[in-house]
Amino acid sequence: MNKILMGALLSIFVGSSFSAHGAGVTDAMIDNDAASTNDVLSWGIGTEAQRFSPLTQINTKTVSKLTPIWSLSFGGEKQRGQESQPLVYNGKMFVTASYSRIFAIDVKTGTKLWKYEHRLPDGIMPCCDVVNRGAALYGNLVIFGTLDAQLVALDQDTGKVVWKEKVDDYAAGYSISAAPLIAKGLLLTGVSGGEFGIVGRVEARNPMTGQLVWTRPTIEGYMGKKYDADGKESDNGISGTTNATWPGELWKTGGSSTWLGGSYDKSTGLAYFGTGNPAPWNSHTRPGDNLYSSSTVALDVTTGQIKWSYQTTPHDGWDYDGVNEFVTFDQDGKRLGGKADRNGFFYVIDANNGKLVNAFPFVNKITWASSIDLKTGRPNYIDAGRPGDPTKGEEGKKGTTVFAAPSFLGGKNQMPMAYSPQTKLFYVPANEWGMDIWNEPISYKKGGAFLGAGFTIHPLNDDYIGALRAIDPKTGKRVWEIKNNAPLWGGVLTTAGGLVFYGTPEGYLKAVDAKTGKEEWKFQTGSGIVAPPITWSEGKTQYVAVVSGWGGAVPLWGGDVAKKVNFLEQGGSVWVFKLSK
Ligand code: CA
Ligand code: CA
Repeated sequence: MNKILMGALLSIFVGSSFSAHGAGVTDAMIDNDAASTNDVLSWGIGTEAQRFSPLTQINTKTVSKLTPIWSLSFGGEKQRGQESQPLVYNGKMFVTASYSRIFAIDVKTGTKLWKYEHRLPDGIMPCCDVVNRGAALYGNLVIFGTLDAQLVALDQDTGKVVWKEKVDDYAAGYSISAAPLIAKGLLLTGVSGGEFGIVGRVEARNPMTGQLVWTRPTIEGYMGKKYDADGKESDNGISGTTNATWPGELWKTGGSSTWLGGSYDKSTGLAYFGTGNPAPWNSHTRPGDNLYSSSTVALDVTTGQIKWSYQTTPHDGWDYDGVNEFVTFDQDGKRLGGKADRNGFFYVIDANNGKLVNAFPFVNKITWASSIDLKTGRPNYIDAGRPGDPTKGEEGKKGTTVFAAPSFLGGKNQMPMAYSPQTKLFYVPANEWGMDIWNEPISYKKGGAFLGAGFTIHPLNDDYIGALRAIDPKTGKRVWEIKNNAPLWGGVLTTAGGLVFYGTPEGYLKAVDAKTGKEEWKFQTGSGIVAPPITWSEGKTQYVAVVSGWGGAVPLWGGDVAKKVNFLEQGGSVWVFKLSK
């Protein structure tokens, strides 16, 4: 036997024994997820979150033959918003659904292999629908977060619970809706609950056991913790300096929730988590920048220290959050990150040191700041754009109402954008809307809404709210845009086949030309799409999948906008497509 043949046989043997004996998903496989086309192992199709696939079988010339091959219903009497990105590995699809459910499905046939329904208590307090955005894979486990703030790890083959950990107290407003992130062999998760005055943080755990390794609060003044192998807790350095950017005791209920999870770049060794609003929304109660709220926080994964932070909305008074995903990419020999912030500005930031490289609006109307100072990295505020101080209003009850744009639902919300290294463009699902917003007095009460603000959302245009935009991060130029009547709330996928895929609340999964935005294909999924599509290949065949099921924050919080979309029907299913012959 010659050496080449022996090597080939050996690699086949090693390859097959790998999955057969349950070594399962490894760190090397997760680090390589964006390049490996035969699986989807992470939220973002690669931890860098570019949502770009090198696959080309489905392309601008062939996409007209894209045809559904199966669909599976999530069933149940309860439906609501389905924001999940599926994962694909070892012949199985793992997809989460509303109300903390997860399904394993045979990818070839669409046959349900198992289902896990988390038993939720009555008192859960998700602010913005009962959604879940996806799971993580590690070893033979599939891991996801629940609406009562637990993490559950299940055996990929059987669906049996291997470990379950309580992250925090749901009665205080904690919940989990984001997909967990795996980086350097650790499971990294955040928490939701910024509307209830919780304390935002990132936690690192051993993914195989659920045991804590470190925690990092994302509010300035809190002490980080680390844990040894026996679970013994010790201090891991304070986050910033107590009272440097928060007055008095307010940092103790300061929100800054890490509700959309994070991304990770192996070339920097850093995990990037967005943080939500400082609590309460009424900014007059908390003079100062209120770190690390409405920021991107870059964490050294090994130590749990904050390596850098960049605050997009210092002293946020509009619930602009800052949770949006940080997508790393190469430009001019530098590793940068792109972020389309809820506040309406697109930021390009050095992924190694947090220095601002570029910032420009990606929506048409912004009322709170005129621009971002590229030297200092700070916004040039429009003072009249901030809702008034209620203590200075009539009888101290309500401050001056202002019209603010974007609305608090943001220029972009949870729906992830995509970046193509081929076109060097970001594809951003944006929305054009504004709000009347005013402040009211408020005090913290455990488990109570901690806003001190009221609001009504309004569309800015008669004919559209959503706009999918192709944006050049170097120049800030919009190369093309596609308007959409309803607000866009799903995510985006782009491929080397020259395509951009995205879903609409009106129910369509669409494919458009990545260079021009020309619509090439669409399919009606039967309910609104508020989730990001994926693609992968098996053998010689490329597949596309997307979850369908209208819901999320828009119909719950949307004011005039909710009236505009109230004809849309709920649902809950996953669709898979391939080219017909
Ligand atoms: Ca992959
Ligand atoms: Ca918020």
